[in-house]
Amino acid sequence: MLYTIKNCRFGRGVFATKYISKGETILNITGPMITQKQVDQRSDKEAANALQIDDDLYIDFQEPGVLVNHSCNPNTGITKDQFLIAIKDISPEEEMTWDYSTSVDGGWTMPCACEEKNCRKIVKDFTLLPKKIQQKYLEEKIVLSYIIKKLSQ
Ligand SMILES: [Zn+2]
Repeated sequence: MLYTIKNCRFGRGVFATKYISKGETILNITGPMITQKQVDQRSDKEAANALQIDDDLYIDFQEPGVLVNHSCNPNTGITKDQFLIAIKDISPEEEMTWDYSTSVDGGWTMPCACEEKNCRKIVKDFTLLPKKIQQKYLEEKIVLSYIIKKLSQ
């Protein structure tokens, strides 16, 4: 195992247990597939766990993946809608984070308190990110494919 679940200031988080090199897969994104209607029937908190992968399709994100917190300066990202990979070298004890905006389209927002220098204070649609950051994430291939599909339409 490359990681362990620990308590942190955001509740629980996922922390590296050993050195992880950039590009390494940390965990698989798994969970039952659910529809927009099912997501709409949930509380806001539960709905936030649904990871959109198509217009009407979500992965009901399960632990441990769902416990990976957001950061505006992340060290991991979701590639191929399927794998959480390291986008930087990660040291043991370091918390693993990804930028939730790489999965957001359609108006969902969340306040951010990641305290990174570049904190955007609010997590929102990928298309609302500064162009430079969009470009970086696209190059790292950590933007969900339904968002890329929309961008190319
Ligand atoms: Zn932030």
